[in-house]
Amino acid sequence: MQAKSKRSVIILGCTGSIGTTALQALAPLQDQFTIVGLSAHNSIDTLATLAQQWNCHSVCISGDDVPVPDSQLFTTATQLFTGTAGLLAMIRETEADIVLNAIAGASGLAPTLAAIESHKDVALANKESIVMAGCLLFSLARENGVTIIPVDSEHSTLYALLQAHGRSQTASLVITASGGPFRTFPIERMAEITVEMALAHPTWQMGAKISIDSATLANKGLEVIEAAYLFDFPSSAIEVVIHPQSVVHSLIRLYNGALYAQLSPPDMALPIMAALGDGHIDLEAVVAPLDFTDLSLTFEKPDLQKFPLLASAFTCSNLQGGYPIAFNAANEVAVHAFLQHKLSFLDVATVVQETLTHDWSQAYHAYEEIIEIDGRARAFAQHIRKGLS
Ligand code: MG
Repeated sequence: MQAKSKRSVIILGCTGSIGTTALQALAPLQDQFTIVGLSAHNSIDTLATLAQQWNCHSVCISGDDVPVPDSQLFTTATQLFTGTAGLLAMIRETEADIVLNAIAGASGLAPTLAAIESHKDVALANKESIVMAGCLLFSLARENGVTIIPVDSEHSTLYALLQAHGRSQTASLVITASGGPFRTFPIERMAEITVEMALAHPTWQMGAKISIDSATLANKGLEVIEAAYLFDFPSSAIEVVIHPQSVVHSLIRLYNGALYAQLSPPDMALPIMAALGDGHIDLEAVVAPLDFTDLSLTFEKPDLQKFPLLASAFTCSNLQGGYPIAFNAANEVAVHAFLQHKLSFLDVATVVQETLTHDWSQAYHAYEEIIEIDGRARAFAQHIRKGLS
């Protein structure tokens, strides 16, 4: 990349796990990248420090329940935005080449749509944007001439593999899963699982919500839905394989029988920089090369009886309409309750499965309809959750 054309980046959710990794990976590349917008939900002091470090002029504290911070804290900021409306305004009004959306959960959807509508490419770490709005997002992106590049490690891999080998040559996708902390845990003891046990992920350091989703394999379920929409494959052409070492990040099967994989040490800097760098970054400088000394890779089939949410996600991906929205909404409600010790680990799946017994076949054509379905699913899930605890 030429030094004269610095790539301008807005980072949403800059104090979370993905945002922090992104800024660390970008730190040695300040001759190639400029940060023009930063948002955090409520970490005011950290946001102020980062804005100063990066000489960033547009900042946003996006939490609607967070007191408006003292603008004096933001010495470099010419514009301080606040709340959800402020976040959307910052995205629309700040000139940038690309928006890294690393906001966690359903609240990441509106910012993704704002980025697309203001003609900015999106490096998308917020998988809920795709899960909730998959039927809308890609046509909107095409209309606005915008590229959506996935930042999930599996989807970043699939994106690169499909580019390298051709979508038309590819028969199916194989998404790898670490298996989470309970891969070898006896199924008959699953009722004993505590929040602390579920938060201890063996290979990835992540936020609380996604750690629980990895423990239930709901995260892999969301990724199946995400991959189906992103790459336009039916769920019947998507496999999940458990691979505890998290070195193979996913694979594609070609019609000629060949199987291609991407391997690297588990480090989110790789998918983040693959997306932000637009193919111009030497990724060997970002992540240490894979060391084959003592490297042993194993694969196994997922246990759908032990992890029923993975099976539910395949069903939702197949049914489409409001089903993926309901799956995501009910899971968010259930995981939130579990983290607050108001629901058992096993009942996380119960809440989602019972929510899905309602009819979610309604198709959607606009953001407002998605939010309506999401709200209805959350209400059902809360009702079911209260009946269980
Ligand atoms: Mg992933």
